[in-house]
Amino acid sequence: MAKTALITGGSQGIGAAIARRLADDGMNVAINCLDEYNRDTHGEAVAAECRQRGVEAECFIADVSVHAQCDEMIKAIKERFGSLDVVVNNAGITADGLLVRMKEEQYDKVIAVNQKSVFNICKFAGAVMMRQRSGRIINVSSVAGLYGNPGQFNYSASKAAIVGMTLTAAKELGPRGITVNAVAPGFIKSAMTDVLSDELKEKILAQIPLGHFGQVEDIANTVSFLASENASYITGQVIVIDGGMMM
Ligand code: NAP
Repeated sequence: MAKTALITGGSQGIGAAIARRLADDGMNVAINCLDEYNRDTHGEAVAAECRQRGVEAECFIADVSVHAQCDEMIKAIKERFGSLDVVVNNAGITADGLLVRMKEEQYDKVIAVNQKSVFNICKFAGAVMMRQRSGRIINVSSVAGLYGNPGQFNYSASKAAIVGMTLTAAKELGPRGITVNAVAPGFIKSAMTDVLSDELKEKILAQIPLGHFGQVEDIANTVSFLASENASYITGQVIVIDGGMMM
């Protein structure tokens, strides 16, 4: 039976690339979209691309920062596909600003979407996987969570927390045959990084030994590996994918 993968924030950028890649791997794909607008403008097209690869794919609407919506979504996916084998906690936002000027809402929003979402999804998906006695959870952190980044106090906090969550979940869920790992991208070309100034992009590029920014497929390929049988003895790891930027 084909495996089923959920990708949060799967309608564009890195999440969409992961959806296409896991569909290439033969998995049915549940694409989480924030709302109807996001589903209609982006999500349905990604689902269609996945179906063209010969698997089943469907969009599921949920704001992953909302506990009850995640519960409903995981139930709906289990009902629709029969199992939930791979979860990629990819949804994320930025709301950058210097620490001393950062508004409370700016901090709370980023923590809710980037960090609490991982609790919400790991809790409900983890329960399904524990009953199945198998599963793969892959959390999308960031080099900002490992090394810090000026202007991203909120974002760094959320992405560092994901590392701790990954390690704890790996220890709790390992005995039930579930692996939990994280990827920590560096600078990947997407809507999230398109908004940065050319000046800042040039500064970042100068720090990357491989001499170019990452592509969304670079993250998708690593997630594909972590979701595969080849990674069955890897858990509690954080894989940095940054072209050598932080070494
Ligand atoms: P992106 O293109 O902005 O995609 C983020 C996705 O998350 C969008 O589909 C977005 O939907 C969705 N999302 C936002 N809030 C959500 C919510 N509350 N519930 C459900 N979905 C929500 O950014 P990306 O570059 O692909 O980033 C994907 C992940 O990689 C993020 O976790 C990001 O922090 C991480 N990352 C990215 C980079 C990079 O250089 N790009 C580096 C390190 C880590 P909407 O479009 O509707 O808002």
